[in-house]
Amino acid sequence: MTSTFDVINPATEEVVRGVDLTSVEETDAAIARAERALVSWRAVTPADRGRLLRRFADAVDSAVEELAALEVLNSGHTIGNARWEAGNVRDVLHYYSAAPERLFGRQIPVAGGVDITFHEPLGVVGVIVPWNFPMPIAGWGFAPALAAGNTVVLKPAELTPLTAIRLGELAREAGIPEDVFQVLPGKGSVVGNRFVTHPAVRKVVFTGSTGVGKQIMAGCADQVKRVTLELGGKSANIVFADSDLEKAAATAPYGVFDNAGQDCCARSRILVQDSVYDRFMELLEPAVKGVVVGAPGDEKTEMGPLISAAHHAKVSSYVPSDAPVAFRGSAPSGPGYWFPPTVLAPVSPSDPAAVEEIFGPVVSVLRFTDEADAIRLANDSAFGLSGSIWTRDVGRALRVSRGVEAGNLSVNSHSSVRYSTPFGGFKQSGLGRELGPDALDSFTETKNVFISSEEQN
Ligand code: NAD
Repeated sequence: MTSTFDVINPATEEVVRGVDLTSVEETDAAIARAERALVSWRAVTPADRGRLLRRFADAVDSAVEELAALEVLNSGHTIGNARWEAGNVRDVLHYYSAAPERLFGRQIPVAGGVDITFHEPLGVVGVIVPWNFPMPIAGWGFAPALAAGNTVVLKPAELTPLTAIRLGELAREAGIPEDVFQVLPGKGSVVGNRFVTHPAVRKVVFTGSTGVGKQIMAGCADQVKRVTLELGGKSANIVFADSDLEKAAATAPYGVFDNAGQDCCARSRILVQDSVYDRFMELLEPAVKGVVVGAPGDEKTEMGPLISAAHHAKVSSYVPSDAPVAFRGSAPSGPGYWFPPTVLAPVSPSDPAAVEEIFGPVVSVLRFTDEADAIRLANDSAFGLSGSIWTRDVGRALRVSRGVEAGNLSVNSHSSVRYSTPFGGFKQSGLGRELGPDALDSFTETKNVFISSEEQN
């Protein structure tokens, strides 16, 4: 018998609907179909593959409002964020729709003939998606994978499958053959694990927690299976005394509390230079209290609820009754997994709140003395995904950017993700890069062919 999973609206705790969970046998059958579909998908001409991806992008564009409403319901994302997320899937598809006709190999000068390289598709690619950004993270995997000629099986997170299921339908409506892109809702231990163990799946794209990512990497080693990992983070927002302090303080809450802090790029450690620490905290307090927390479908809302009761309990454990709470914002009472924006200070660098990824709206503020101290503190982490640097000194911005061990940094802003630039982590934040021009390398193998120009008898 097929088991189902009840999808819960995290803002109301009401059941949205039940979703059938894919079994191991159904996963195997889907992988077999995806493997068979490779032959015909590879044979689609580059121009036609690009055209199909553009049609898919257009179908997503027509459904932005529908997808956004679904994400508000399933994930409690604010309507503004959810629209951006659906639009991001469209944009990523558009960006990679140009790739099939530009998957250039090289012609390398050699003696006795011609040497050329090809970027061959890998085969069936398994994409495993977490619950925090169900749409964009799915798109970052399937769009470049399909563009490079692979077929895709995609497993959304148990808690948030609804938009991925709809994206699968939109792909078919746009003309992407059914077995080329299949969405398989189900458990990580069942469907996700089968992507790791099934020999026909030639690559796993995993985004999620560092613990599960390590298991996946170990599992993939058995078949020397390709793997891309996008894992956790504990990113630093470094505020120097010479920065535009008003702007740094006004934007800091959004650098960490966006998506209720359930963001791998959340700047969950704010490092402030000693000489401006008190002034920064004075400015930060009204900014934090001003974050509009409430019904995610309301256009004015800036932060919604946490994803689940279990996650609420985990986040709460980082703010025990004796926690050094400097100040907090507000949150609705009543049903829903609400948690107010929370600022902890002073926090020792070894405190779990300053070391572990909380993945909720909790930020630790720490002090530093000078540039070297700021870089040392920022790098005092097993993670290295993102971060921000606030300074008016261009030289310092460059020195600190080069010194911080993280894959995605922004100076005087908190941006991390653009579909046209590479995204990924240093250290235990991940392996490989998604988005931008680099992602295609992760979905192809380079093949070298030498053609002799010697006379044939
Ligand atoms: P998770 O690791 O529990 O689950 C992620 C996905 O993996 C889910 O689809 C889950 O079903 C699946 N999974 C679980 N166990 C599995 C197994 N044994 N084999 C195969 N698949 C398995 O993570 P989560 O709680 O859903 O997501 C939150 C985490 O994701 C955070 O740590 C966050 O930092 C990270 N994240 C990272 C990025 C990034 O780009 N670096 C982006 C978003 C989220």
